[in-house]
Amino acid sequence: MIITLKQTNTFKDNADVRRLLVSLHVDVIPVEWKSQSLYVVNGKFSELSRREVAKHSGVEAILPIDRPYKLASKTFRPNNGKIKIGNTLLIGGREIIIMAGPCSVETKHQIEDMGKEVKNAGCHVLRGGAFKPRTGPYDFQGLGKIGLRFLHDAGKKYNLPVITEILDVRDIELVEKYTDIFQIGARNMQNYPLLRELGKSRKPVLLKRGMWATYKELLLAAEYILVGGNEHVILCERGIRTHVQETRFTLDLNAVAYLKHETHLPVFVDPSHGTGRANMVRALSRAGVAAGADGLLIEAHTDPRKSISDADQAISPQELTKLVKEVKRVARAVDRE
Ligand code: PEP
Ligand code: MN
Repeated sequence: MIITLKQTNTFKDNADVRRLLVSLHVDVIPVEWKSQSLYVVNGKFSELSRREVAKHSGVEAILPIDRPYKLASKTFRPNNGKIKIGNTLLIGGREIIIMAGPCSVETKHQIEDMGKEVKNAGCHVLRGGAFKPRTGPYDFQGLGKIGLRFLHDAGKKYNLPVITEILDVRDIELVEKYTDIFQIGARNMQNYPLLRELGKSRKPVLLKRGMWATYKELLLAAEYILVGGNEHVILCERGIRTHVQETRFTLDLNAVAYLKHETHLPVFVDPSHGTGRANMVRALSRAGVAAGADGLLIEAHTDPRKSISDADQAISPQELTKLVKEVKRVARAVDRE
């Protein structure tokens, strides 16, 4: 259950509510969001205790939630959540938000050139990995700090917010300095210490679904960030492992429809990793938006075949421009923009 506290409360009022709850033998987890202070309560009250809590002058509401994730649930927040990035960008609103760019930041020029293409195509956010979670330790691991700087500078040059992956809890301070949005990759979806630390940040986190993860596991992973006080979490379906050999992963669009019913968090689709094939990316982008996604994460490269990582799924700037046009048409058909 969640107990929301009145906004007019003093620190003492909140402490008073907490004392009452503790006296009723339930676990109390305080959550401090910018928009609201609340207590997540683990345990059950008797009807008598419930009335006593409801009567307390510091309590705004008691919300029973029959899900293991509480803060992520739609019972807690029935309306779709919105995340503002800077002064102009709104994630989770009517507009479909497209984040695009190379899998890896390779050189200063490469990310700058791609920034220009991403802007011209009409996308909203520039992506680029500086810390890469590669399958083998001898594969290109990303440029690290200098890559973050190149990405940040390219974003500034073309007035685009940037998103980049964080792999290691020790890099949070560094990455936070250069990025507007943290990306948690599929492989780190259940890296609980990393999730908890990002809960302390106030920057948005795009959390990718693990290739093995159930919807419940994804939502519980999001809950780790939310409970820390960071209410800006975006979920991302990026494909799961199935018996299908012909594509790198199977993009599970069931996840989009399911999650849109179950959570107020914005839901994105990554058709690049979801298919692993450049010639399928546009089709699955259209399908993702038709299924209800709030945005897309797309891998694109000025010279796709020369991509250092994920070359098979990188699309060209020309394809990206087509994709944006097609997605806008689908968006209008499903009452979005
Ligand atoms: C990526 O976005 O480049 C990436 C590594 O994605 P994922 O975590 O979905 O594999
Ligand atoms: Mn990639």
